[in-house]
Amino acid sequence: MSENDGKKTLGIRGNRPGQVKQSFSHGRTNKVVVETKRKPRVVVPKPGTASAAKAAGAKGGPAKGDPSKRPAGISDAEMERRLKALQAAKAREVEEAAKRAAEEKSREEARARRRAEAEAKEREEREREAALKAKAEEEERKKREAEEAKVREKAAKAQPAPDPAAAQAAEARGTGKSSSAPRKTDRNERDQKQTRGKGSRDDNRRSGKLTVNQALRGGEGGRHRSVAAMKRKQDRLRQKAMGGAEPREKVVRDVQVPEAIVVSELANRMAERVADVIKSLMNMGMMITQNQSIDQDTAELIIEEFGHKIVRVSDADVEDVIDSVEDKDEDLEPRPPVITIMGHVDHGKTSLLDAIRNAKVTAGEAGGITQHIGAYQVQTDDGTTLSFLDTPGHAAFTSMRARGAQVTDIVVLVVAADDAVMPQTIEAINHAKAAEVPMIIAINKCDLPAANPDKVRTDLLQHEVIVEKLSGDVQDVEVSAHTGDGLDELLEAIALQAEVLELKANPNRSASGAVIEAQLDVGRGPVATVLVQNGTLKQGDIFVVGEQWGKVRALVNDKGDRVNEAGPSEPVEVLGLNGTPEAGDVLNVVDTEAQAREIADYRIQAAKDKRAAAGAATTLEQMMAKAKADQNVAELPILVKADVQGSAEAIVQAMEKIGNDEVRVRVLHYGVGAITETDIGLAEASGAPVIGFNVRANASARNSANQKGVEIRYYSVIYDLVDDVKAAASGLLSAEVRENFIGYAEIREVFKVSGVGKVAGCLVTEGVARRSAGVRLLRDNVVIHEGTLKTLKRFKDEVKEVQSGQECGMAFENYEDIRPQDVIEIFEREEVARTLE
Ligand code: GDP
Repeated sequence: MSENDGKKTLGIRGNRPGQVKQSFSHGRTNKVVVETKRKPRVVVPKPGTASAAKAAGAKGGPAKGDPSKRPAGISDAEMERRLKALQAAKAREVEEAAKRAAEEKSREEARARRRAEAEAKEREEREREAALKAKAEEEERKKREAEEAKVREKAAKAQPAPDPAAAQAAEARGTGKSSSAPRKTDRNERDQKQTRGKGSRDDNRRSGKLTVNQALRGGEGGRHRSVAAMKRKQDRLRQKAMGGAEPREKVVRDVQVPEAIVVSELANRMAERVADVIKSLMNMGMMITQNQSIDQDTAELIIEEFGHKIVRVSDADVEDVIDSVEDKDEDLEPRPPVITIMGHVDHGKTSLLDAIRNAKVTAGEAGGITQHIGAYQVQTDDGTTLSFLDTPGHAAFTSMRARGAQVTDIVVLVVAADDAVMPQTIEAINHAKAAEVPMIIAINKCDLPAANPDKVRTDLLQHEVIVEKLSGDVQDVEVSAHTGDGLDELLEAIALQAEVLELKANPNRSASGAVIEAQLDVGRGPVATVLVQNGTLKQGDIFVVGEQWGKVRALVNDKGDRVNEAGPSEPVEVLGLNGTPEAGDVLNVVDTEAQAREIADYRIQAAKDKRAAAGAATTLEQMMAKAKADQNVAELPILVKADVQGSAEAIVQAMEKIGNDEVRVRVLHYGVGAITETDIGLAEASGAPVIGFNVRANASARNSANQKGVEIRYYSVIYDLVDDVKAAASGLLSAEVRENFIGYAEIREVFKVSGVGKVAGCLVTEGVARRSAGVRLLRDNVVIHEGTLKTLKRFKDEVKEVQSGQECGMAFENYEDIRPQDVIEIFEREEVARTLE
């Protein structure tokens, strides 16, 4: 009994009212719903027990039969047994009882049926009562317990002798702790409840706890249906009793979550109520509205809390549609090399490219700076095609690489033979090395008398470039862009190098390429020069390029001819973009416009997020670190818009060079195209002027600039722009303060004047003493005080200045330690404006 009691108590203590947790041997446990009151009544009648016993005997016999216990139980105190029996019955460990009862099966059955019929009505009534009570009980545990106790007593009295079998069964179950199948038991019990609920309809069912047992026994066709129906009904009842707190059966959903998800959308995908989601977010300490988004990790916590499963999806998946299949070797065909000419300014890059193309473009460049990046193809005499890129600065080369476009196969480094290796030569060497692109040295201007190619070669040694003439592996060619000497050798060298590189591509696939430059053309809209790197770009192709997308409306080659397609290493102007991409952006052809748009949208968002993240990071730590480092540096912020990417980058480069330790020009933003309202907004926020290089502000931008007081300046020559910005930046230089010595005075006597303090009677020995000037007190030529004068008196009068040789009275502001023989140095400060460089 004590054991039983213990179990029961445990069960009662257990999580939910109405449940009993049972422990069985072999460490198994079972949780059953206990409708305490109903049970005893149900159990009381023998017929029930009997049929149960039968059922159990048929089914679960093996585990239970605990012969040793049975006899003991029978012989022991009846009360105890009865109690046990009741509990057991409550617990619905029917099989045990059934097994026991099986022994008396036939006898009992007959009796049971008769009785059952008689008691059916009575039971029904009881059941109803019990159901009501049960609800009450479930709500109030204590009440129930109390009732339970009563019920037990009642039951004990009510069913005296009739059920030794039941008692035994119960005891066997309780003490034996063995159960064939906890779940089954559970079901049985529920079934029983159900049966009870149905009351008189089916005695066997009712009494036999037994629906399942019966079912198992008989295997009648109706079984499944009724079991299911009962189950459902029981669930409903239970839910009702529990106030519907427990969801019937949770549908576990796979919830797809991108990197960030709006709360309401998350709730939607989980099919949960938004309010619940917000509540659980609050529980996690996150005060978030339904329209705010949370990150994937937070979403995961929420999803788990609601019992669903997270399926992480990356927004970047939209890019998967881009054809990234590796080409098979047999599909690859040789392609022309792409060559970039680099070198120090004025060493002849443009001239050399022109010479190679037999055209002259050097003349007429505004400001003399190469502002336009082009890409051209040339045919050598032996028919080899070479693609040349003309980058205006090394920054373009690197920034293209930074954006993931490695376009260049070979770098031709131009070094003037009459000059030497210069800073930008070294820069070019470093860029080529960083990009792991082979170099060819073109020693230019060899026509000049001052040319000294060997000096160039030896100079290069210092930078770990060992040319072939010095037994190295870097090809070197002496050329003259003016006379054309050596050009063929240079092209040969390039062809040779290209051969070594074994450059190949598959022309028979959808194209990918890199933007060499892009601009907003007045007549044609956004135009990008694209170097096709793989596949073939055709008219009508739909593509995504950086954050832009489009459909190829027209292709124009480097000779200005319209073409229908462009293959690997071919540069073409692409028309039909929806916006201006940036140099270095990668172009990919995709299947549908929807895909292209989706990818572009995703990239725009990603870029925005990145900027936001960078901004946030700056705000916190970086900014403080920066503020410290920059404490004494004044910044002139500017915004640059230009007609072509090349110009924009050249300007940015030039701007970065302006300034010194104290003043710096900061390009907040630069881009290609007209000045827009957005630019004005940014400029206003930072107090920056907007520089338009060969572009103008659109009407709305002009209006908003007027309103907001943002200055817009237009330029078409870089040098003018640089000069102006320099002048503006100079304005930021703090004026230099110069100190001019103006006089000396010697203290002869010190008086004490009430109301004024100590006053020095002095003789001005040199220069003048001025009231407004700064003063230093020197004692034995050591400065012991620096400050200003409180009074300067000549006799009794306050005066502005006292000339040399005259006597005067002086008192210091906030300083009294003055003695005869101290010397007063008098000086003035002057501010001098400075300029940059
Ligand atoms: P970049 O700044 O490197 O593009 O140099 P440019 O191509 O603009 O040339 C700078 C100057 O060098 C121009 O005045 C050219 O005429 C001159 N130049 C270029 N190549 C040669 C050459 O082979 N021989 C001589 N004598 N002058 C050259």
